[in-house]
Amino acid sequence: MNFINTPTVIVIGAGIGGIATATHLAQRGLHVIVVEKNARPGGRCDRFTRQEHHFDAGPTLVVMPLVYEAEFAALGASAAEMLAWQRVDPTYHLVFDDNSRLTLTSDMKRMQEQLERIEP
Ligand SMILES: Cc1cc2nc3c(=O)[nH]c(=O)nc-3n(C[C@H](O)[C@H](O)[C@H](O)COP(=O)(O)OP(=O)(O)OC[C@H]3O[C@@H](n4cnc5c(N)ncnc54)[C@H](O)[C@@H]3O)c2cc1C
Repeated sequence: MNFINTPTVIVIGAGIGGIATATHLAQRGLHVIVVEKNARPGGRCDRFTRQEHHFDAGPTLVVMPLVYEAEFAALGASAAEMLAWQRVDPTYHLVFDDNSRLTLTSDMKRMQEQLERIEP
């Protein structure tokens, strides 16, 4: 790459948004520099370890798989081939102060029944 004649873009932040943006710009032939204030990339998609246990600090759910698939396709790759999608159902359990519970599920009938019980 001829850095002297190639426009340079500086992307601030190496979260998933910054990384995706940088990848698209680089694919279009721009010289891209990503600056990140933390010691590693990821932003809110981070992970930390305490006493040998690993904790995801942010996302647990892929809420719009079509967006991921479109992003991968735009970069000439296949999300289905590169990511090991795994359906998790129920996704999680909420336990409230009064010990009532809500189980998040993609079973719409079960989900509706639970929500109706809380807020008829
Ligand atoms: C607890 C939690 C749960 C979530 N659950 C889900 C989920 O289930 N599904 C889902 O789709 N989304 C979820 N999200 C949202 C998702 O994590 C964010 O939308 C996404 O990670 C944001 O990415 P981003 O690149 O826009 O921003 P960020 O991840 O915030 O990245 C911004 C980056 O910029 C860096 N930065 C900021 N200022 C500067 C500076 N001046 N100089 C250099 N670097 C800088 C930061 O350090 C950071 O790395 C969740 C978020 C949280 C916190």
